[in-house]
Amino acid sequence: MANPLDEFVEKFTQLMDAAADDEPRILEEGGRLLETLVATDNWLPDAYAKPHPEYYQQYLLHKDPQNRFSVVSFVWGPGQKTPIHDHTVWGLIGMLRGAETEESYAVQGTNQAPKLQGSTQLNPGMVGKVSPTIGDVHKVANAYEDRISISIHVYGADIGQVSRHVFDAQTGAAKSFVSGYANA
Ligand code: FE
Repeated sequence: MANPLDEFVEKFTQLMDAAADDEPRILEEGGRLLETLVATDNWLPDAYAKPHPEYYQQYLLHKDPQNRFSVVSFVWGPGQKTPIHDHTVWGLIGMLRGAETEESYAVQGTNQAPKLQGSTQLNPGMVGKVSPTIGDVHKVANAYEDRISISIHVYGADIGQVSRHVFDAQTGAAKSFVSGYANA
């Protein structure tokens, strides 16, 4: 039987071949592909599931040769969280192991705190979505203080190379960052 990740990459590549510019279709059909991938937790190699004592880790699992998408494992150590940040491209977040909490924000411009829009918890098998069209700014945290959580992310670019932003929670001030990958 083919590895679930290989199967996912093959199907996602076909989706991009058919609809690379159709974001609603990618979020819908790609979201279902990701749901299938994270429905079973038996395929992620240990090398891509290792936490860091201080920082959440992002391991590149696959990069499309044409840079139309990338697949990343996002590994949370106990209690780790992101700052408020954006992506600038569409993104799908599939919960594989543990759980994460997500707060979505609206950026208000300079000298105003980003405004909390809502919060959700992703549990194993669930898929979350972001994009500049549907809401792109959020803050994410491991829902657990005492265990590792892992989600599988798919983005509409080589996300580790994308220049994007973190936002100060008090002042709303934006700062550019490039995330890179823990393994590349
Ligand atoms: Fe994010």
